Amino acid sequence: MKNWEKNIRRVIPYTPGEQPNCPDMIKLNTNENPYPPAPGVEKAWGELDVPSLRLYPDPACSLLVNALAKRCGVGEDQVFVGVGSDDVLAMCFQTFFNSKKPVLFPDISYSFYPVWAELFGIPYETTALDEEFRIVKEEFYRENGGIIFPNPNAPTSLLLEQRDVEEIIAHNPDSIVIVDEAYIDFAGAPSAMKLLEKYDNLLVVQTFSKSRSLCGMRVGFAVGSPRLIRYLNDVKYSFNSYTMSLPALTLGAAAVADEAYFQETTRKICATRERSKEALRKLGFVFPEPAANFIFASHPKCDAKALFEALKERRIFVRYFDKPRINQYLRITIGTDAQMEALFGALEELVSKPVFENGY
Ligand code: PMP
Repeated sequence: MKNWEKNIRRVIPYTPGEQPNCPDMIKLNTNENPYPPAPGVEKAWGELDVPSLRLYPDPACSLLVNALAKRCGVGEDQVFVGVGSDDVLAMCFQTFFNSKKPVLFPDISYSFYPVWAELFGIPYETTALDEEFRIVKEEFYRENGGIIFPNPNAPTSLLLEQRDVEEIIAHNPDSIVIVDEAYIDFAGAPSAMKLLEKYDNLLVVQTFSKSRSLCGMRVGFAVGSPRLIRYLNDVKYSFNSYTMSLPALTLGAAAVADEAYFQETTRKICATRERSKEALRKLGFVFPEPAANFIFASHPKCDAKALFEALKERRIFVRYFDKPRINQYLRITIGTDAQMEALFGALEELVSKPVFENGY
C-alpha cells in the first residue's frame, strides 16, 4: 500500500442494476417505466432554451418546487428537490441522521441505505422482517437516531398499511422518520404525506423515475415540515447549490403538469401487474402481494440464479440478489403486456426443464 493510500476514504459502493445495451432486449431489471414520459415532456424538451444554458440554473429550483407544492397540496417551503431520490436520500442521511444512536431500517430493503450510513459514518441497526417479508412495526419501538423505510418496500414490493406507518411515526417523536415512497403511486394506497399535518418529524421522499418515466432525467423530491426542508436546504447549499439542471427542472415541471397521462400509464402498469400475478402463479411461482411496479417471485422447484442466467441468455433481464434469505427470488419489473408475454413464454420453457429442478 502506498503511504498516500492510507488517507483515502475507502467504501464498498452500492451496485446498481445492469444497464445492458442490446437492441432487442427485454429490460425488467431496474423498475423503469415501460412507457415514455408524458407528451408534454417531449414538447418541453423540443422547446428548451439552449442559449440560456450558459447561465447557472435557479438554485432554489422554484419552477419544479412550485409545481410539486401545488400537486401535493403543501406550501412551497415544504418541498425539496434533488437529482433523483438517491440524491435527496443521501442529503437526508447527512442532514437528519446525526446522532450516536443507531439509525433503523429493515434488514431486507433498499440496499443503498447501509452504503450511505457507511459513507457518512452513521451508526445503524437493521430491523427484522417477519417470515412473510412484512415490516414489523414493533421493531422500530426502540432507541434510535432516525428511521427510514421504503413503502412499498423494495425488493419485496409489500405495502405497509397507513395505520402502521403512523404508529411508527407516533412512537418516535424524538426521531426523524423518512418514508421512501419511490413506488407509492402503484400501491393504490394513500401517501404518508397525508400525515404531515400531524407530525413535524415526518419526511416523505418520492421520485419521478418510476411512475413518471424519468429515470434518465434524475428528478426526486421530499415533502415535510418547513423546518425540515430548511435544514435540508442548508446542507444542500453547503454541498452544491446547483444540483438540478435547467432541463431537469423544466422537464420535471412538464411531467407534473400532465396528471391525466400519469394516471393512465400508472393504471396500465397496475393492470399488467394483476395479469402477471396470474401468469406467474400458473407457472408455479410464489410471491408476496405486490404493491409496486415489480413482483418478487420465487419458484419452489427452480433455482433463481439459474433462471436469472437463462433469461439473460435470452436477452430478458430481471434482477437477482445473491443475498441471504432472498437468493431464491427474482425481482421482475412490470413491463408492457407484450414484454411480460415474452417473459412468461421463456419461463414456461425454463421451469419445465429438469436442469432447474434442483430442489434447493
Ligand atoms: N428508493 C428506492 C426504494 C428505490 O428502489 C430506488 C430506485 N433504485 C430509489 C429510492 C432511487 O430512485 P431514483 O434515484 O431514481 O429516484
